[in-house]
Amino acid sequence: MSLLEKTPRVLVVEDDKAIRNLIITTLETQGYQYSTAANGSQALLEAASSRPDVLLLDLGLPDMDGVEIIRKIRGWSEMPILVVSARSEDRDKVEALDAGADDYLTKPFSVDELLARLRVALRRVKKEADRGSRPEEKIYRNGELTIDYEAGVARRSGQELHLTPMEYKLLCLLARNTGKVLTQNYILREIWGLVLASDTSSLRVFMATLRKKIEPCPAKPIYIQTRVGIGYRMTWVERGEESEEES
Ligand code: CA
Repeated sequence: MSLLEKTPRVLVVEDDKAIRNLIITTLETQGYQYSTAANGSQALLEAASSRPDVLLLDLGLPDMDGVEIIRKIRGWSEMPILVVSARSEDRDKVEALDAGADDYLTKPFSVDELLARLRVALRRVKKEADRGSRPEEKIYRNGELTIDYEAGVARRSGQELHLTPMEYKLLCLLARNTGKVLTQNYILREIWGLVLASDTSSLRVFMATLRKKIEPCPAKPIYIQTRVGIGYRMTWVERGEESEEES
């Protein structure tokens, strides 16, 4: 709970009472504040009126689809949205992430996994709030990795990384969205401007070469995580975490 000064408030949107109670109990034990909604219209009302720090969202709701809720909320808020759904198909995950969700958890989920994903989501907001209060900040810092946006140079442990223009662009896109899962389609569209994203194999190749350059141990990446079949996420790494990994 040290990541935020105030206790984070979670809005739990779930029509299944048993799952809702499980989530609430979990949140209570961790000292989170929460409010709940059992359908989509309640969820939209509650999200707008109570401005939660994070939204836990079920997709299958009695009155509307969760993806519609994501789209509506993204029209006015960047609050982290963590989808918790029984839909386990890749295309459902991709649809929710493309609509603007931060992350996706499939039911049945482990309580530890839920809490870990919550912390990641909240950390993104905290970092963004910090950045917002220091608008002059032109340097991205994550563990031993830095990007000097003005100079167009990325470094690890002070050593300049020799990235191709495409790798640099890819790194910046991931960095700007640290903590958020980016779908393959989204990345392809942003970097290559492809509308029909069928070229995921070339993305994999680019990601592999980028990892070789930025990861201390490319076989066990700590910066860029893969969500198989879905996409990638840049993770916040603590300073010194790299050397621990290597030792
Ligand atoms: Ca449901």
